[in-house]
Amino acid sequence: MLERIRIVLIGTSHPGNIGATARAMHNMGLSDLSLVAPRGEPITADSVSRASGADHLVHAARVVDTLEEAVADCTLTVGASARSRTLPWPMLSPRELGDRLPQELAGPDTRVALVFGREDSGLTNAELQRCHAHVHIPTNPDFSSLNLAAAVQVLAYECRQAWLTAEPAAADEAQAREPADALAPDLALASHAELEHYFAHLERTLVAIGFHDPAKPRQLMARLRRFTLRARPERMELNILRGILSDTEKLAPPHERR
Ligand code: SAH
Repeated sequence: MLERIRIVLIGTSHPGNIGATARAMHNMGLSDLSLVAPRGEPITADSVSRASGADHLVHAARVVDTLEEAVADCTLTVGASARSRTLPWPMLSPRELGDRLPQELAGPDTRVALVFGREDSGLTNAELQRCHAHVHIPTNPDFSSLNLAAAVQVLAYECRQAWLTAEPAAADEAQAREPADALAPDLALASHAELEHYFAHLERTLVAIGFHDPAKPRQLMARLRRFTLRARPERMELNILRGILSDTEKLAPPHERR
């Protein structure tokens, strides 16, 4: 279970925080680290020293340009946020996140991403709206922003507690599993990349039929994202929706088609 939890750091400016994140992860048995557009070289004397022996995680970290690339294969993406944002989104406490993990990671091809923001400005609204849910570590409301690696530590700890509780149960369940479960891949949840393709297709179609004007967005796409992500669609269900969109596009007035 722990090997399928990815920590994603976006736009980190202090390499020391990347090292300290690696340490926090290794302490809790997590190993999958992705860095999105770090602002500076991730492997420095400071990051190696702050990793205190866990610098192999920094060396193995995948470095990518966008959040999309970092979480494309993930079936659940959770953004860690110190603040509440304009459009309320499903919120989890760290404990609730941990409680959900065994079930989230039970199916085939499942992977969970925990996404952390920049030291100075956190995650953007666009980044947060790409997440199924947000997790907030309860804090003193007058001083709510933890150090980046400290926030990773708290969530990594909850991941480990959830794993310790679930592991014996998971072993029992695997033994008791019926052969019919071999059909489970049919029920596979859509990955982040599949969801993003769907959202792009949906937006294109809504523009083509004149329902959506990108110049006056009125949070339409954000609301549709929230609604769709809340439903946790399966791959098959998204395929049906995309089929409907393709047929809808064909009916759109020709001058609107792209
Ligand atoms: N100043 C930024 C916070 C940066 S802290 C802001 O106001 O948004 C760097 C990152 O650590 C945040 O983007 C978030 O991912 C994580 N973090 C810090 N405090 C947190 C908290 N109380 N709950 C959840 N995540 C937190």
